[in-house]
Amino acid sequence: MRYISTRGKVAPMGFIDAVLMGMADDGGLLVPEQIPSLSAEDLRRWAGLSYRDLAVEIFWLYANQEISRKDLTELVDDSYRRFRDEQVTPLGRLDENRYVAELFHGPTFAFKDIALQFLGNLYAYVAHRTNSVINILGATSGDTGASAVEGVRGKPGIRICILYPHQKVSRVQELQMTTVNDSHVLNLAVQGTFDDCQRIIKEIFAEVEFKRRYHLRAVNSINMARILAQTVYYFYAYFRLVEAEPGKKVSFSVPTGNFGNLFAGYLAKKMGLPIHRFILATNENNILERYVREGVYQPSEFHRTYSPSMDIQIASNFERYLYYLYGENPETVDSIMAEFRAHGRIVSSPSTVQQVQTDFSAYSVGNEECLETIAAYHQHYGYVVDPHTACAAAAAEKLGSEREATVILATAHPAKFNEALALRGILQGYPKEIEQLFDLPETKTVVECRTEVIQDRLVHFLA
Ligand SMILES: *Cc1c(COP(=O)(O)O)cnc(C)c1O
Repeated sequence: MRYISTRGKVAPMGFIDAVLMGMADDGGLLVPEQIPSLSAEDLRRWAGLSYRDLAVEIFWLYANQEISRKDLTELVDDSYRRFRDEQVTPLGRLDENRYVAELFHGPTFAFKDIALQFLGNLYAYVAHRTNSVINILGATSGDTGASAVEGVRGKPGIRICILYPHQKVSRVQELQMTTVNDSHVLNLAVQGTFDDCQRIIKEIFAEVEFKRRYHLRAVNSINMARILAQTVYYFYAYFRLVEAEPGKKVSFSVPTGNFGNLFAGYLAKKMGLPIHRFILATNENNILERYVREGVYQPSEFHRTYSPSMDIQIASNFERYLYYLYGENPETVDSIMAEFRAHGRIVSSPSTVQQVQTDFSAYSVGNEECLETIAAYHQHYGYVVDPHTACAAAAAEKLGSEREATVILATAHPAKFNEALALRGILQGYPKEIEQLFDLPETKTVVECRTEVIQDRLVHFLA
């Protein structure tokens, strides 16, 4: 198993090199040279596995024997030990055709933990095995930062610096970062926006000599290891559902931002998991929904919504889907992306759009509709969903059918977004793990929004 770039201008590489590279050096994204194909017998055997055993099987197919099975098993055990549910991603049933896969039982109560707990352990494993230092630099609009810090804190050989926009993340998200009292963790509250943070990170990574000298690595959502970790819950949810209801058609409704979550499902289906259909749910930032509907991929104006982790203008994993959509042809992808850079849009032909619409049904959820759905689910099922999950629920209501079971992916614990729930009169406290954060001492560093200033901080931190 080797990994290649969607743009075809990088020499094929192994699993660990692909994880360390993150984004491909030619600006593309890394994909497996060939997607493993599961037989009916494989699927039968996997159907009885625990979440962790399934994760080991899946990583084993992709890890190219660069990591022994024993080490892989340890990595997986370490990654999911801290989840509050024995099943890691338990599947709940709302009624005959509606199910919820709860992906938020990790340390920071968001589904990012599923991938970042594993990536943190994998980085630590590589640092140890190659006797090298790994310093992680990332920017966050909220969930990713807290989750990445939790994924690597206390791991030998790893340090992490996260930039977040000062006063623009939720109180809980900030506490999850600032109460981590660890000399290997540096949080910087930047006096600017999330876009400023991302721009600064890009500028620092672009200084190749600086990046090399300080062993800087990224944690953004385009890392192949994150995608692989996320395929596991599609298998797990599917098996639990058909175990209870043999023969049922199973579809997934996925709240989408950077397309990482959904691409993981697409990959699971390509491996042979018989998923009936994907419902792609966006909030008002609906570039993907418009693409599925019209075949034009083009950013529009930014909308502030109740689901900030899906407030994106460009879906960074979308290029992986384009690669498969256009017949695994890197030259085509390269020219499409060049066209996108030059003209700010991608236009697909009617026959391609037809294929896209076979792959996904899409729905964009308005702000009011999101809150209405939260209220309706609370009233009807006595089940509280967070605003991100509510987008998937609303899309499932709109596009689901009585002839299939739809699994709504629940990506955040509702308590993380109590402010939005309160707008519909749903008042609830925090789980004790979050409540405790309010009593811990905070270390907070507010910094000027200038690349030199932040680079200087970074140099002191890594000295
Ligand atoms: C990141 C995130 C999403 C979107 O996932 P993508 O992989 O970016 O599509 C949805 N919900 C929550 C709570 C998230 O943190």
